[in-house]
Amino acid sequence: MDSEQLYDVIIIGGGPAGCATALSLVRSKPDTSFLLVDDADPSKFKIGESLPADTTRILAYLDPDLPETLEEDTDSGKHVYCTGNASVWNTSDIHETDSIMNPYGMGLHLDRAVFDELLRESVRAISHDQKPGHVLHGSFTAVAKDSNSWLVSVDDVGSGKTIVYRSNWIIDASGRKASVAQKLGAKTVKQDSLLAFYTVFAVSEHSEVDDDHRTLIEATPSGWFYTSQLAQNRRVVVYHTDDKDPSSKIARKIDGFLNLLHTQARFISSIIQDADYDVLNEPGTNYPKCTAAGSSNLEPACDDESRWYAVGDAAMAFDPLSSQGMITALKMGSRLGLELARVLDSDTQAVSEAGRDGVTTERRTMADVYKAVRDDYDSKKIYYYSQVRRFDTDFWKRRQGA
Ligand SMILES: Cc1cc2nc3c(=O)[nH]c(=O)nc-3n(C[C@H](O)[C@H](O)[C@H](O)COP(=O)(O)OP(=O)(O)OC[C@H]3O[C@@H](n4cnc5c(N)ncnc54)[C@H](O)[C@@H]3O)c2cc1C
Repeated sequence: MDSEQLYDVIIIGGGPAGCATALSLVRSKPDTSFLLVDDADPSKFKIGESLPADTTRILAYLDPDLPETLEEDTDSGKHVYCTGNASVWNTSDIHETDSIMNPYGMGLHLDRAVFDELLRESVRAISHDQKPGHVLHGSFTAVAKDSNSWLVSVDDVGSGKTIVYRSNWIIDASGRKASVAQKLGAKTVKQDSLLAFYTVFAVSEHSEVDDDHRTLIEATPSGWFYTSQLAQNRRVVVYHTDDKDPSSKIARKIDGFLNLLHTQARFISSIIQDADYDVLNEPGTNYPKCTAAGSSNLEPACDDESRWYAVGDAAMAFDPLSSQGMITALKMGSRLGLELARVLDSDTQAVSEAGRDGVTTERRTMADVYKAVRDDYDSKKIYYYSQVRRFDTDFWKRRQGA
């Protein structure tokens, strides 16, 4: 079934990057028509919970109500505050950074599915009567070019029907899968093969109170663990290693995961044991779950002549050591929204012609953003990993050689 509606922009993916793109675009150019398509199930656990305290500024830029709503949600028990970071990293002792040292105060340990839904709710609230903005619960399946516009096929979750929408621009904010860009011939280039194995724990009936609200990171011979306390007496534990490392086979099964945790990560193991945590028993979910967690970038990440951009993890993804994924996705989306507003305001054809002559910087402007983000991350990553010299193992040697 075809939709006659021609949108200025269709955004595939309603995570932080896609929502930030929509909010920033409409803030800069309120008459823009857009469709944001997302297939997430907000009732399902989503990994990636640490929100740095300074994210509040970018959230306030995107929607002035967001910081307050987030605070209300936290006070009502949907998220919990993060009191700081602790790491067992370059030595076998624990080192702490209290959030009291942070000028922005405490960060959060989010319920990510709830947070992402809050962002989509904010996008829903900026619909207009004449130039509509819509959020659609659906799954993108195909993209094709019809003369000057994109034809974008979406399976609507509610009706089960496939609907084809038209747009002038298409944005890939679908996360690491880069579903749109892959179909347009772009390739995701992986910098490493890091995997993350994660398990959610819940306290058992007679457990001690777990009052540790830090993010705790612990290096082990073949990788590293982290843990964060979540709302509703839950705790997530994540193990990272390379796909070819022998421990990756062990971590795939819950017995192996727990064995690695309790034999290699003594601080995190103590937290789990002291508070009597059990693996969360959720219908339909078997822990541990495995997901890609390495650094990667999309080549190319945009083509302004064809009128598509990738943003967030779809454009470039980072290993979770820095906890910067969300704030970077939000910043990139904000920047892309501004660029799109500028391009939509001008004659698109003239912009791309001039771009070819090197007169304008439209394309190079987003390329510069991608490069700046990548350079910043790479320097931090090498610094963090090069600190760990106490294991003479392949995992750490690979990182130190990087
Ligand atoms: C193990 C791990 C731990 C992490 N921990 C942290 C952390 O503590 N703090 C932090 O800041 N970052 C963390 N990150 C990174 C962070 O989660 C990502 O950088 C961030 O989610 C990127 O946002 P995004 O919007 O680009 O992509 P995503 O959050 O992946 O959002 C993409 C959206 O697109 C939707 N989508 C995908 N395909 C389709 C389709 N075909 N049709 C419609 N919709 C589609 C998805 O449902 C999703 O809602 C972690 C990552 C990993 C792997």
